[in-house]
Amino acid sequence: MEHMQSLRSFDEERVSQADSFESISTRPVWAEVDLDAIRHNLNVVREMAGTARLLAVVKANAYGHGAVAIAQAALGAGATRLAVACVDEGEELRQAGIQAPVLILGYTPPEDAARVAALALEPTVSSIEAARAFSRAALSSATRIQIHVEVDSGFNRNGVSLDQVVPLAEHARQLGGIEVRSLFTHFATADEPEHSFASKQFDAFLRVSSQLSWIPERHCAASATIFSRRERVLDTVRVGLAMYGYSALVGAERNANLRPALALRSLVARVWEVPAGSCTGYGRTWQAKERSRLALLACGYADGYRRSLGNRAEVLIRGRRVLVAGRVSMDMCVVDVTQVPEVKPGDVATLLGRDGSQEVDAIELGELAGTISWDILAGITTRVPRLYLTSGKGAALPAKVGRGSHRATVR
Ligand SMILES: *Cc1c(COP(=O)(O)O)cnc(C)c1O
Repeated sequence: MEHMQSLRSFDEERVSQADSFESISTRPVWAEVDLDAIRHNLNVVREMAGTARLLAVVKANAYGHGAVAIAQAALGAGATRLAVACVDEGEELRQAGIQAPVLILGYTPPEDAARVAALALEPTVSSIEAARAFSRAALSSATRIQIHVEVDSGFNRNGVSLDQVVPLAEHARQLGGIEVRSLFTHFATADEPEHSFASKQFDAFLRVSSQLSWIPERHCAASATIFSRRERVLDTVRVGLAMYGYSALVGAERNANLRPALALRSLVARVWEVPAGSCTGYGRTWQAKERSRLALLACGYADGYRRSLGNRAEVLIRGRRVLVAGRVSMDMCVVDVTQVPEVKPGDVATLLGRDGSQEVDAIELGELAGTISWDILAGITTRVPRLYLTSGKGAALPAKVGRGSHRATVR
């Protein structure tokens, strides 16, 4: 009974309705992605951002949530453009039939210009040579390429230095086949409580952009800026982490208005008892102080559940927190369920997400693993099937999701 309740608390109904849940995996591990949460979070951002355009950042497989499904949900919720990190990620969206503008935020080698033109992607340009390469590719394929100029206002990564921005943009303006669609910059410290460096960057960006008023769009805000300095949102917000349910502000409480969209779950594969003094895992780093019960989960660091979480992170089973015992292996980990003796094979274990009143979020795992929530989410690997949940019923699974014979029953 208690077990049923804990299942219901993480949306048993929607999980069981989700299309072909029973055939998603050869291993009992999966990531549930709540598309209603994605839509809700975008609405929260839209309220913060006023009339600014929403550019949904779906790079890195939509921070582990699945690029195509998230792109479609975001476009359905009012985003008008998408952003990826590289040409391959843009191609995945185009192959799925997505026609919205797709900005490539990362570095695009000029040799990829023909693919950029063929796929109608919009590269970030930070040199005259690159602008020329895109111009040639557009002219030779009789299309137009929208380009975006990134201003390096202090991050020192992929932007054009402040003194080169105006000459580069003016040069690009003269080239055939390309149009400068936007001017943007990225803050190095927007997630920190202290704002002086971001303020310097913002002022420098405004100064240079005032000399390029013919460029139709200016943007600088990612998730952190939306929540900390909304007055800095110019024409467009580049929303990544907030869309997935986290506000991106370091050290702040999680934003109560946002809902984490992803849960990582596994079934308990087996349960057994060990006498005091027994060890489990590589290096024998966990030792039983008393007679103990251990449970095996089919999730390891090759699924994105970090090796550094061994002996540190807690997993939720039957609404209770239990500790990872010993090191996380590549494909499995073990939890100490001595305090929850009713645990049995087939129980759902939540490694990330909510179960009953308990929740393990990506911030908690990030802190334990010595990293950040972006890294925890983006690190969930492709071998974990994604199960998409929406209010009515489960959405169709993308074709890529592996199909196998394991019958995972969460009813
Ligand atoms: C990834 C990225 C974003 C999104 O950042 P979040 O903090 O996840 O919202 C925005 N802008 C640029 C340039 C990026 O690389």
